[in-house]
Amino acid sequence: MPFRLTADQRELRDELREFATEEIAPVASTLDHAGTYPGGVLGALADRGVTGLTVDEQYGGRGEGFVELAVVVEELSAAMMSVGAALSLHLGVAETIERFGSEALREEFLPAMADFETVGALGVTEANAGSDKAAMETRAERASGDADGDEWHLTGHKQWVTNVAEADVVLLYAKTGPESEAPENVSAFLVPTDALDIDHEWDAIGGDSVPTARVEFEYLAVPDDRMVGEEGRALVQRGDLRGGVNLPARAVGIARAALDDAVAYATEREQFGQAIGEFQGVEWRLAKMAERVETARLLTLRAADEADRGAETASAKTSMAKVHATEAAVENASDAMDVHGGVGFTSEYPVERYFRDAKLLTVAGGPNDVHRNTVARSLRSD
Ligand SMILES: Cc1cc2nc3c(=O)[nH]c(=O)nc-3n(C[C@H](O)[C@H](O)[C@H](O)COP(=O)(O)OP(=O)(O)OC[C@H]3O[C@@H](n4cnc5c(N)ncnc54)[C@H](O)[C@@H]3O)c2cc1C
Repeated sequence: MPFRLTADQRELRDELREFATEEIAPVASTLDHAGTYPGGVLGALADRGVTGLTVDEQYGGRGEGFVELAVVVEELSAAMMSVGAALSLHLGVAETIERFGSEALREEFLPAMADFETVGALGVTEANAGSDKAAMETRAERASGDADGDEWHLTGHKQWVTNVAEADVVLLYAKTGPESEAPENVSAFLVPTDALDIDHEWDAIGGDSVPTARVEFEYLAVPDDRMVGEEGRALVQRGDLRGGVNLPARAVGIARAALDDAVAYATEREQFGQAIGEFQGVEWRLAKMAERVETARLLTLRAADEADRGAETASAKTSMAKVHATEAAVENASDAMDVHGGVGFTSEYPVERYFRDAKLLTVAGGPNDVHRNTVARSLRSD
């Protein structure tokens, strides 16, 4: 059983590590504290083809798999989680179009998405439909449209649309069928962001460089050909997507950054005439942090590998990796703050950002408790 990345994967990792260290890490704190969108960084990633990483080569992407996605997102998130988040959300929309969209939609959207000329965002969650997506209230009614053909009229809201202000298109989920057909009563539409009204911008405690907003819309006309996938099957088809491995990968990045910073600080900081890293209590803490990084990465890469191979267990493995890695990131960030003593509690060191960003990941992409349910269900059906 191979426990090594391939030569190409190691080369990709090294390329992204160098980029993240030189181009992202030096500006991450400034961007984060000012809540500034990392547009320059994302543009540079587009120039390197990373914004089309998992898009098929036929549509202008690099055609890489989920292991490569996990590798890239870890590197970016070790420098700044928001960059990993913006890229992952965008590629998740592209994955949905590529897997389930019509050929016309693929040809129209994917090359521009690979180049980051068209940026994607996701609109699933609502005020009363968080973990329980099937409870969404947004509706799409079929209407006889204009001369171009049939259209849908969408009415409702989406509670958390990350990056909606910078994105060009939102993959927006709405009910198109009666409750009696649930869960096969939800469809997905590609909606231009300028058609949506932002009615609340969340003042989140982390990841605010790529902010999240609530949007509203009423009788929003969307042409029939903007529907992605089969009518009524969008929620079910979401369950077949595999890009969710980006969430544990983001967490591995944070957990690793916290470890690296803690080791560096413990080596340099002296108390009682010695480096604090020589106290056994600190050594053991650092060893535990290293163990968390390794286990989180192993689970994440295994889930990504299963996703690439189309294994039936990939979804449960991704959930397991998500729970473990995101909790490892929170624990490592917290430990790194302790190792830094008083300065760890200031915004002059990045460890407090790791903590804020890590806390988002235990909820984003579905709360960990809900992912524990997925893992538990897989045990029962085995
Ligand atoms: C910063 C940020 C960005 C986001 N970006 C997006 C985005 O771009 N697009 C998008 O669609 N959504 C986005 N979300 C929404 C995110 O996916 C939801 O917050 C998440 O799915 C949980 O929904 P909720 O917040 O309504 O929590 P709830 O569903 O109300 O859950 C609260 C708690 O209840 C418990 N719980 C709920 N159900 C169960 C269960 N079945 N079993 C056990 N415990 C349970 C859990 O402990 C959970 O933490 C974002 C959220 C945040 C905070």
